[in-house]
Amino acid sequence: MPANLTLETLSAAVDAGEIDTVLVAAVDMQGRLMGKRFHAAFFLDSGYRETHCCNYLLAVDMEMNTVPGYKSAGWEKGYGDYVMKPDLATLRRIPWLPGTALVLCDLLDHDTHEEVAVSPRAILKHQVARARAMGFDAMMATELEFYLFENSYESYRDKGHGGLVPVSGYNEDYHIFQTSKEEEVMRTIRNALYAAGIPVENSKGEAEAGQEEINYRYSDSVDTADNHTLIKQATKEIAWAKGKSVTFMAKYDTRRAGSAAHVHQSLWTTDGKPAFYDHDDANGMSAVMKQFLAGQLAHAEEITVFLAPYVNSYKRFTVGLFAPTKAVWSTDNRTAGFRVCGAHTKAVRVECRIPGADVNPYLTCAALLAAGLAGIEGKLDLEAEMKGDMYAAQNVREIPKNLRDAAARLNGSSMLRAAFGDDVVDHYHRNAEWEIAETDRVVTDFELQRLLERA
Ligand code: ADP
Repeated sequence: MPANLTLETLSAAVDAGEIDTVLVAAVDMQGRLMGKRFHAAFFLDSGYRETHCCNYLLAVDMEMNTVPGYKSAGWEKGYGDYVMKPDLATLRRIPWLPGTALVLCDLLDHDTHEEVAVSPRAILKHQVARARAMGFDAMMATELEFYLFENSYESYRDKGHGGLVPVSGYNEDYHIFQTSKEEEVMRTIRNALYAAGIPVENSKGEAEAGQEEINYRYSDSVDTADNHTLIKQATKEIAWAKGKSVTFMAKYDTRRAGSAAHVHQSLWTTDGKPAFYDHDDANGMSAVMKQFLAGQLAHAEEITVFLAPYVNSYKRFTVGLFAPTKAVWSTDNRTAGFRVCGAHTKAVRVECRIPGADVNPYLTCAALLAAGLAGIEGKLDLEAEMKGDMYAAQNVREIPKNLRDAAARLNGSSMLRAAFGDDVVDHYHRNAEWEIAETDRVVTDFELQRLLERA
């Protein structure tokens, strides 16, 4: 489903008084939309060509702190500008905001007009081009899980983020009655996204109180990462407009299941044939699929930073809550990090279950693709399938236990250094180091509760 505006149809909608505002936005390291709100007349006049933003947008943390140690931007370089170049193929109506359209931008170097190497969208586009040069289109879908809360962010912020109240009182996995009660929010989200040109397949209750999932149709990877980003944005904005709130934190409560963003992946030949399918194989898996999966397994620990980017992300990987703990593969087995779905059919695909809902989808898809393509290039042999309960499996490849271990694996990854370039790996390693240092530095509620009286 393509984005649903062109410059011509936008112009007509502006003339008809339907649209007066165009959001011009790029995606930052954290996966957030950052940009400006243009008057539609100015956008049509010249804004559609390019605009500018401070280059610190790819060098700040969640709090917008200016983080030292990045080669791309810093005080010593004066924090200059990037060019924000609208990708007009993404121009669309944003039905959940009055009179509004949106376009996603690529970030370009101010002088050379080359894409900025550390920009998440550029990193993914580079891997997609690499797949194409090998004869493949990389098709992906992410399944977005999140929690929906009764009250607004503002009301929880006033209480120090304590007392979050999920919209339901019980595990609502697949429940129709409970999710009927949530339709005021979820139906609005589905229909608004569909009207924005995002092919929503369904929403469902998930396996905790107040937990939801949205699925949308797989597409080429850049399109998928764009859709993922817009779904997150819509979900937050629509919930907020109704006085509610959502979280895409990987693990917001120690006692509750975390939220995932499983990634379904398949390669297709550039003339549209399913490159993962082989009718004669026991599982219907082609040699290409086996090599791709072997690459993801071989490099699983190195790419984990892009599947679990925060210290918090690793708290999701617990036994018995449907989040994986082992980076192994298995057919239709939800305890494995890599689950083969659609075995024996043309829809045979790899579902990577490691990514949390807190990921930047461009980086996640790019890292998975880089690892898979390395497997094809190296003609790697696929290890034997694991069967049964992977939580109980001994002496098998583990998902790194924390961001510190994952960051070390990223730093030492010759596969990622070859695929992304040293500047990109160094940049995201620095980002992980900063996240670790910030989390090490702060005093938490846990420490107070445990130590204040008894230490
Ligand atoms: P599940 O049983 O895991 O919920 P679904 O049939 O709902 O599986 O599909 C999950 C996701 O996988 C959807 O977003 C769907 O679009 C996507 N998907 C289906 N076929 C493919 C494929 N060949 N390649 C990539 N993604 C796919």
